[in-house]
Amino acid sequence: MTDKIARFIAENALATPCLVLDVDRVEGNYRRLKAALPLARIYYAVKANPAAPILERLVRLGSFFDAASWQEVQMCLAAGADGSRISYGNTIKKERDIAAAYAAGVRMFAFDSEAELRKIARAAPGAQVYCRLLVANEGAEWPLSRKFGCEAAMAVKLMTLAGKLGLDPYGISFHVGSQQTSPAPYKAAIAQVATVFTDLAAAGIRLRMVNLGGGYPVRYRTEVPEIETFGDAIMGALAEHFGNALPEIVIEPGRYLVADAGTVVSEVVLVSRKAEDDPVRWVYLDIGRFGGLAETEGEAIRYTFSTPHDGTPEGPVTIAGPTCDSVDTLYEKANYRLPLALAEGDRVTIRATGAYVTTYASQGFNGFAPLTEHYI
Ligand SMILES: *Cc1c(COP(=O)(O)O)cnc(C)c1O
Repeated sequence: MTDKIARFIAENALATPCLVLDVDRVEGNYRRLKAALPLARIYYAVKANPAAPILERLVRLGSFFDAASWQEVQMCLAAGADGSRISYGNTIKKERDIAAAYAAGVRMFAFDSEAELRKIARAAPGAQVYCRLLVANEGAEWPLSRKFGCEAAMAVKLMTLAGKLGLDPYGISFHVGSQQTSPAPYKAAIAQVATVFTDLAAAGIRLRMVNLGGGYPVRYRTEVPEIETFGDAIMGALAEHFGNALPEIVIEPGRYLVADAGTVVSEVVLVSRKAEDDPVRWVYLDIGRFGGLAETEGEAIRYTFSTPHDGTPEGPVTIAGPTCDSVDTLYEKANYRLPLALAEGDRVTIRATGAYVTTYASQGFNGFAPLTEHYI
């Protein structure tokens, strides 16, 4: 956590659970990513954390935005973003929402099927469209399965149709899965995209843009490659497949920009054992899966915890949330250990929780209100 967050927590008697997020850190992450991929336009994936202070800071920095819904488009507009800097990147949209975004000046739309393409042609005439390719997600700690994207041959056919429908066949996108710990899937996907470019060029259609999606990882419990490693691998693959005729490059980082800017402050509600001689303690916090820590599903994203007793002897724990649903167990298999001195009432901070937490909180399941948010 940043010094600014540590000071804010120390100086304020914060009600828990809450998120404290350092907006300067978001700016630092944005600048570092920009330096790692200077030729790319950054479209912040708003869903990672749509808080106004984050969007407003990114507007000031000249960022573009990837919105997944008309509501997210409106959040970007309210933060001062121009419609021309917003991409409507969800491949699943209501036609009236496409029309609303178009009326607000949005001109870039994603699709991965003929039905969606026809909706865009009707509701956003002449708009720039990009087709999402189905690509491998190996190495991602939060993969996306087959829900999004289509096969390359279909992308070629649909981009041809896009032109016939009066749309601008702009480019191709992919997403290698979130918290992607390896640059290899980006390289493989770029090779696939290049094939689609070549096939369409043969048919007289010149695409101009490659959208590399998100996925850039942050450090949770284990080290991940630095962002510069991803930048180098991506630029190397683009040069290899496109030579001097580099397309416009778009990236859609979510997690990378905001995750490590945020810290959740929580309180221990109960520490207990299932039998007197059971070495494993159950630690129940006042935040759990329904309080926003949804990415602990399958123990996929493994957060780090700190307590007032750090540095003292530890023992094995299962960590759970406060609700009456057994799904609200965060970590049972991932071998977490916490200090033996940990007791009810202790403050526990959960690091790198600025992404995919606030908006995942339930609306009062069991009466627990969503966590409070402090942007500093
Ligand atoms: C969620 C999402 C992103 C952001 O992914 P991160 O892994 O948080 O960087 C980018 N693009 C699309 C289309 C998404 O759905």
